[in-house]
Amino acid sequence: MDKLVSLCKRKGFIYQSSGIYGGVNGCWDFGPLGVELKRNIKDDWWYNFVRTREDMVGLDASIIMHPQVWVASGHVEAFHDMLVDCKECKKRFRQDHVEGDRCPECGGELTEPKAFNSMLRTRLGVSDDTAVETYLRPETCQAIFVDFKEVCSSTRVKLPFGIAQVGKSFRNEVNPRNFIFRSREFEQMEIEFFCRQEEEEDWFAQWQEDIWSWFLAIGISESKLRWYEHPKESLAHYSKRTVDVEYEFPFGWGELQGLANRGSYDLTQHSKHSGKDLSYFDQEKNEHIVPTVIEPSAGVDRTALAVLCDAYDEEEVKGETRVVMRFHPRIAPIKAAVLPLVKKDGLAELGEEFERKLRKKFPTYYDHAGAIGRRYRRMDEVGTPFCICLDYETKENGTVTVRERDSMEQSRMHMDEVAAFVQQRTSFERD
Ligand code: ATP
Repeated sequence: MDKLVSLCKRKGFIYQSSGIYGGVNGCWDFGPLGVELKRNIKDDWWYNFVRTREDMVGLDASIIMHPQVWVASGHVEAFHDMLVDCKECKKRFRQDHVEGDRCPECGGELTEPKAFNSMLRTRLGVSDDTAVETYLRPETCQAIFVDFKEVCSSTRVKLPFGIAQVGKSFRNEVNPRNFIFRSREFEQMEIEFFCRQEEEEDWFAQWQEDIWSWFLAIGISESKLRWYEHPKESLAHYSKRTVDVEYEFPFGWGELQGLANRGSYDLTQHSKHSGKDLSYFDQEKNEHIVPTVIEPSAGVDRTALAVLCDAYDEEEVKGETRVVMRFHPRIAPIKAAVLPLVKKDGLAELGEEFERKLRKKFPTYYDHAGAIGRRYRRMDEVGTPFCICLDYETKENGTVTVRERDSMEQSRMHMDEVAAFVQQRTSFERD
């Protein structure tokens, strides 16, 4: 983990937030490569689960919502962590993260647990007496329930169908830890899939299959994934059944995505609290029903962390250690690097011009500084799947070498073929 954290900082994937001021616990910044990686994860998810599906539509709702939303959803009442304090070293822990009844740091005696609401409060409005207290959303899905009627009446969706949203969520975590795994500000990719109650088990099983396949499609090793079924007694207040997809991080197994059957809990609650009818009208059957909801809910940051952990590899090549990030080409932040063999004899100019053309099609990188072997290694370290080298033959016949990151094998092709070659191997599109 230490090696990965240091690579992320050194190469511009992830920095501590407000580092020059000593940092903010639980907040992180994605640097120039991190932002590309994260965007690719979100775009691929959207492509796979929204754009290419006929039964799905998207939403981008505001982070700050009416305070009543959080009363209706049950978060004001029940979104609590139970905390314990160490009487000796005064450190604070989430009770469910402590094994046994002693302080995990110093072995001291712990206090009785007390409840702590994890929502981040904020005040909306300019004057002290009229400002309204509300929260930064702790999950993105509530807006989907609140806008359910609007989506139904402004589109032609018919049951079963889903509404998807990607966006920021905030939780005042007691112990943010394990790099970006547990943060206070993070992003979620959530789907509320509405169906008839009699179909809930089939849809639950179908979603298990679909979310599992997506993790494989972005290159995560299947041997590092497993299911965890929540026992009935520890289910969240809204859930009839929850299973998690877990990934084996260097610090142990951790949740990447939850899949919950929320029943009709949320639509019923919001109907009650808002006084608005949130039922769905089935024209064919001529009846109003409150649909059941199956919710796949994934964390963008945790997926990014799993992708980073899974990609990290070290191998011996000619007596030297090669560090290589084996990102799936779809997710890799830079798709191709253009590297002239040498700077002189017009090769640098030719390379720059070629890179400028490719840049319009996918993220590229240009580098002519230092020995070619060193430049290949620099690209391996950030997971660039293809390195294109221009040499003296390029000047003669317009061909270049294309080096593949994992095998390090090189093939020759004409410059005119390179864009299509790289695009075909790195695009989201699949059959
Ligand atoms: P945990 O038990 O780890 O606190 P949770 O069960 O409360 O998580 P959910 O409410 O199911 O998490 O949230 C759905 C997804 O959002 C999680 O699977 C995870 O990927 C992501 N997520 C939740 N909390 C955090 C966090 N503090 N930091 C980063 N991602 C998070």
